[in-house]
Amino acid sequence: MNMSYINYRDIIATILMFTVGACAGSFINAVAMRTVADKKWWGKERSTCDLCGATLKSADLVPIISFLMLSGKCRYCKAPIKPRHFTAEILSAALTAALFQRWGVSPALAMSLAVLWFSLFNSLTDIENGYIYDVWAIALGVTGLLMRIGGGWPAILDGILGGALGFCFIALIILVSRGGMGWGDAVLMLGIGGAVGWKYCAISLYSGFMVGGIIVLPLMIAKKLKRKDAIPLGPFLAAGAIITLFIGSSFIRYFGYIIGSYPGWPWG
Ligand SMILES: [Zn+2]
Repeated sequence: MNMSYINYRDIIATILMFTVGACAGSFINAVAMRTVADKKWWGKERSTCDLCGATLKSADLVPIISFLMLSGKCRYCKAPIKPRHFTAEILSAALTAALFQRWGVSPALAMSLAVLWFSLFNSLTDIENGYIYDVWAIALGVTGLLMRIGGGWPAILDGILGGALGFCFIALIILVSRGGMGWGDAVLMLGIGGAVGWKYCAISLYSGFMVGGIIVLPLMIAKKLKRKDAIPLGPFLAAGAIITLFIGSSFIRYFGYIIGSYPGWPWG
């Protein structure tokens, strides 16, 4: 490989995708916070400072850049801006660019971005008030199934199986454990499974529980969390799905003898 060769088109496209991701993250965060606060997110509703309520100007709302320029403080009241806004923007930007690198311009990229952005939304509402809105979780499944029309009947069937697997798996845990997980989590996996198909859904569940275990168990051991504390689990499931968008196909290559080596449309 010739290391002196730099693909400028790829670099520019990646920066562009990073920017698109930042704007998407900013928009998703605003809609999620307004949904939680029961405010309209369309029309003339303006964004305000969480703390002083000042109406924000467009210069205060440039994703990532405004936060850095203002060193994380409100221009008007100087109170620290919740890091959640910045985190949502930077996560969305970085993952959008990385997914573009992973999939190139393809149906798999479109599906990945739907999963990323809806999952981000559902994680934000879950973190903010412990609630996953059914309509926003189902919206991902519906979007995914509509995209799957591009892959024909096998792809649509795969989405239906994925949604059923995700929902039933969490429902089973709810019924067996009575607590811990909520129906919001089941509906979230219905949406994710409908988009990614059954094989990626299985890997998403596995990865989500791994991430959850890695983060929650040490906290429990350190007694920072009690078993009964309500921990929002949606973000872990979402993280599992997003990890799967990157590693799902390699995972299937290793474990293909169990579930077949073809990851399914649009991944294979
Ligand atoms: Zn303020």
